[in-house]
Amino acid sequence: MKDDNCIFCKIANGEIPSETLYEDGDFRVILDLNPASEGHALILSKEHYRNLPELPSQTAAKVLPLAGKIGKAMMSELSAKGFNVVQNNEEAAGQTVFHFHVHIIPRYANPDEMLLWKPGKSTEEGLKAVSEKLRKVL
Ligand code: AMP
Ligand code: ZN
Repeated sequence: MKDDNCIFCKIANGEIPSETLYEDGDFRVILDLNPASEGHALILSKEHYRNLPELPSQTAAKVLPLAGKIGKAMMSELSAKGFNVVQNNEEAAGQTVFHFHVHIIPRYANPDEMLLWKPGKSTEEGLKAVSEKLRKVL
């Protein structure tokens, strides 16, 4: 399914030009227009899915191997020292384009470009309460 109002549908299916690194029947991989670091890439699904919970399992199963391949290329060809695989779901998590995509962000061992969160604190009871809520639906 495609969404006529979705920019990533148009890019993924070649209606809007993009700097494409790779393409197959399921995905197009492009360079992000606002890169977090040089080579920041996006894996876009060719079909329109809002985000990860909507992605069919057989498509999802192909995403991590592709992300690994792109990251490996970043390390060998761009001299990246590592890479992050990031995937945002919903506004609260930073999603701005509501068409499934995965960020592959090469890292060059520059501390200014690190993507980190501040580690919090946990208690045994707190972990147990959260775990019980999630476990019952998984
Ligand atoms: P997210 O915040 O996870 O939804 O990521 C959306 C990403 O898409 C951002 O990093 C944007 O810089 C990028 N982006 C938005 N429009 C385009 C475009 N036309 N071409 C390439 N990247 C884009
Ligand atoms: Zn779309």
